This record gives sequence, structure tokens and C-alpha cells, in this order.
Amino acid sequence: MEIKIKEILPGEKKPKPKDESKLGFGKIFSDHFFTMEYKEGVGWRNASIEPYRPLILDPAAMCLHYGQEFFEGMKAYRGKDGAIYLFRPMENIRRMNSSAERLCSPVIDEELFLEALKKLIILDKDWIPKSEGTALYIRPTMIATEAALGVHPADEFLFFIILCPVGAYYPQGFSPTKIYVSEEHVRAVRGGVGNIKAAGNYAASLLASKKASALGCTQVLWLDALERKYVEEVGTSNIFILIGDELLTPPLSGSILPGVTRDSVIAMARSWGVKVTERAPSIDEIIMAHGKGTLKEIFASGTAAIVSPVGQICYKDIECVIGGGKVGKLTERLYREILDIQYGVKNDPFGWRVKIYP
Ligand SMILES: *Cc1c(COP(=O)(O)O)cnc(C)c1O
Repeated sequence: MEIKIKEILPGEKKPKPKDESKLGFGKIFSDHFFTMEYKEGVGWRNASIEPYRPLILDPAAMCLHYGQEFFEGMKAYRGKDGAIYLFRPMENIRRMNSSAERLCSPVIDEELFLEALKKLIILDKDWIPKSEGTALYIRPTMIATEAALGVHPADEFLFFIILCPVGAYYPQGFSPTKIYVSEEHVRAVRGGVGNIKAAGNYAASLLASKKASALGCTQVLWLDALERKYVEEVGTSNIFILIGDELLTPPLSGSILPGVTRDSVIAMARSWGVKVTERAPSIDEIIMAHGKGTLKEIFASGTAAIVSPVGQICYKDIECVIGGGKVGKLTERLYREILDIQYGVKNDPFGWRVKIYP
């Protein structure tokens, strides 16, 4: 399928943010977006890149009522050499399609998806910020647009990709977070939709986040839904725990999002000879390891931050400070090495980086 491109008139271009240190996350959008429509029996059609604009939706559009809606999150990086890079984009494309299958929505041809990404990013390349740690965040999204009430798989969908320049995650250097162990609420259960980026998962997580911030914590540590015992994720990131010299991360058992960063951390740590085990420790095991002095590091992993060090855990009335509240050595090394691959600073033994321009 051909992608039609309708460029914005020069006079209508939005002003670019001047101060890259004030970009923040997810508030500014570039000049263009990609859209494509689906109709049962016809397939995907009208692939186009157009000036960014509001969508027109029927108030009965099914995504608004029944949450048949999911997304992806990835980034384009401006390398030290001025080139534009993506990081393992096929992983995000395949994960989007597995979300589609789980939510009875149409899959997208992988090649067309990648072509749409490249064309859109290259057209809006001046929106990619230049300072270290900044990037262009990419949000592919699919929504059910059929106008109908009554729960059934929709027969019309819209797929779109929007772009936003985002600031460095750690403008003042690493700051370890304080996390709150949620006993009352759970994020996902095996057999549910916790292993895909279904929009409803994030709405369901808000109340626990609110409770965490009321207690002075920045993130929620989610426990498994059945026993409320084994750790699963931190906020919207995967979790890693270094006990002794073994790096633990929960296995992809169905309630955990298969993070691209998680997979990269596992591969990189193993390549350094670190013992990585896919096993979910219980919160009690973590507290005990802390007592014994064998709990060395905890960090979260995800596209936004790469890795985010955890400095303190609040569980019931227990407060555990990890590694004296300082950033662990392994956390720091993983951050640096993945960042250097993403920005083209170091060579890329894993073949993760994809140059899209020039
Ligand atoms: C997106 C996400 C992650 C991290 O995935 P990456 O591919 O590494 O960005 C982890 N957990 C949840 C719940 C997520 O939504």
C-alpha cells in the first residue's frame, strides 16, 4: 500500500520548543501524524501522513465505551553523528500486533508499519531534540471506531502514530525513587491483558499510583494478583532485583509486559557474565535479603528511562533503604551502555540499533 503524504504549509508549522531542558514528557506534538483506516471485508486503507489534527469520532465509537484500544511506546534518537536511529523497532511492531490479536483487532503488515514510522520521523526530523538523553517519543495507537453499542469485536478501526520531543529523563543525574508496595490493588492477572499495552491497564493503575504519591512514593510496586506475594512490575516498567550476585526478574508468565528494555537488560547483563534468572522473588524474600545485607540493587526498566534505580521500598510499615539510597553499579553500567548503543556512541554487538537517516 502506498503512503500518501500531505505536508503542512510552511506558514502553519508549529514553533519548535526553544529550551530543550524544559521539554518534559508528552506535552508537545510534532507537525505531522500517520493515520490508516480499517474496515472488515476491505482491510487497511487510506494510509497517509498529514498535518497533526484532532480526530473526528462518533460518540458511539466503541473504543470510547469498551476499551478496545492499545498502543506502543518507542523512541527515535539523534546520534552523536547527527544520524537518526531507532532501537529494536521490530520488537515494538510485533508487540503491537500481539496486542491486536489479544483484543480482536486487525494486525498491521510489519513492513508497512516500519515504512510509516520511517517516513513520518524523517518528515518531522527537525523535531528530534539534540541534547544528550533527549529523544523523539513515538506513540503508535489503535482504536476501535465502529459506532455501535453492545459488546462485540468492532469492524472498523483507526491506527495512528504521533510523535513528541521529550527531555532527558535524568537532567540532574540519576535520582533513586521511593516505591510503594501495593497490597490492596493489583495490575494484572494471568489470562487477562497485563501482557499487552491495553489502554485500560493504565486507567486501572491510577488509584494505586495516587495512594503511592500520597505516601511520598513515586511508583507502585505491583504484586501478583493471586497471592499478593511475588513481585511483578514497578509502575509501567519491568523490575530487576540484584540479590548477592544473581540478577532476578519475573518470568513472562502472562501478567507481565514483555519489555524491550527488559529483554535488552537480560541479554546485556548475561553478555557480561552476570547470572540472570527469570524468577519472581516474594516481597518477603526481598525484605529478608535486605535484612541479611544481600539485597544489592533494584531497578525498573522501560523505554522512557532505560533503567530507573529504586532507592527505597515502603511495604506495610517497613521502609527498606537499598544500597544506602545510592545508585547501584550494575544499574549505572546498564544505563550507560544501553544509552551509548541507542545514541550511536558505541558499537552495537547485539544489532539493536537501526539507522533510518541519512
Ligand atoms: C511499556 C511497559 C513496560 C516497558 O516496556 P519497554 O518495551 O521496555 O518500554 C513495562 N511494563 C509495562 C506495564 C509497560 O506498559
